[in-house]
Amino acid sequence: MAVDAEKIQANLAGIRERVSQAAANCGRAASDVQLVVVTKYVGVDETRILRENGCVVLGESRPQELMRKTRALSDPGLEWHLIGHLQRNKVRSVLPLVDLIHSCDSLRLLDAINREAMKAAKQVSVLLEVNISGESEKHGFAAEALPSVLTQVVELRNICVQGLMGMARRGSIATARQNFSSLRELRDQLLLDCPCEVQLKELSMGMSNDFEVAIEEGATIVRIGSALFQ
Ligand SMILES: *Cc1c(COP(=O)(O)O)cnc(C)c1O
Repeated sequence: MAVDAEKIQANLAGIRERVSQAAANCGRAASDVQLVVVTKYVGVDETRILRENGCVVLGESRPQELMRKTRALSDPGLEWHLIGHLQRNKVRSVLPLVDLIHSCDSLRLLDAINREAMKAAKQVSVLLEVNISGESEKHGFAAEALPSVLTQVVELRNICVQGLMGMARRGSIATARQNFSSLRELRDQLLLDCPCEVQLKELSMGMSNDFEVAIEEGATIVRIGSALFQ
C-alpha cells in the first residue's frame, strides 16, 4: 500500500482531533490517551512520513516486520510496541527492539520473556492480552484466568505488567463498548483483589473503527492503523 504524505498528514490530523474530542466528551485530557500508530499495512517510506509528523510510538504486529522497520529506520527517538501474537522462539530477537509488548497471552510466553530479560539484565514492560470478545479464534487469556495469572506474573522479576489489552468483537459499536467496559471492570476488580505491586494503569483498547468508544470506556492507549492510510 503506497500512500502519499499529504493523505497521511490529513488522516493523522483527523485522528488526533477525534481522539481529543472523544477524551473531552468524557472529561478526560487528550494527553491521557496515547496514540500508537500501527504501521503493519505500510512500508518504511510511509512509516518515515508518520515519524516526520510527530508519531513517535509505533506498533507492529509481526516480529519479522518489526525487525525490518527498526533496522531500516534506526531511529532512537522512536518507541516500538509489539501488538500481535508473539511466538516463544521470537522472544530473543524481539526484546531488544520493543518498549512494550501488548500481546502477552500465555504464561509460557511470559516465562520465556522473563528468562530472556534476565539474561539481558533488563526489565520488560508488558500488557496481558485478554480475550474480551469471547471469540475462540482470538488470542488472549480468559478473564477468569487473570487473578491466577497475575499472582504468578509478579514472581517473574524481570517483567513489569503495565496493564491489559483487548480487542472488541467486530460488529456493532454497542458490542464494542460492552467489551471495552468489561475490560475496564476486570482491571478495577483485579486491582482490588491482587498483589499490591501490580498497578495495571494501562488499558490498550480501541482501533480504527472503535477507538472513540474505547476512550469513553477508559482506554489509555489506542492502536490505530487503517484509518491513517485510507
Ligand atoms: C492491525 C491491528 C490494529 C490496528 O487496526 P486498525 O483497525 O487497522 O486500526 C490494532 N491492534 C492490533 C492488535 C492489530 O493487529
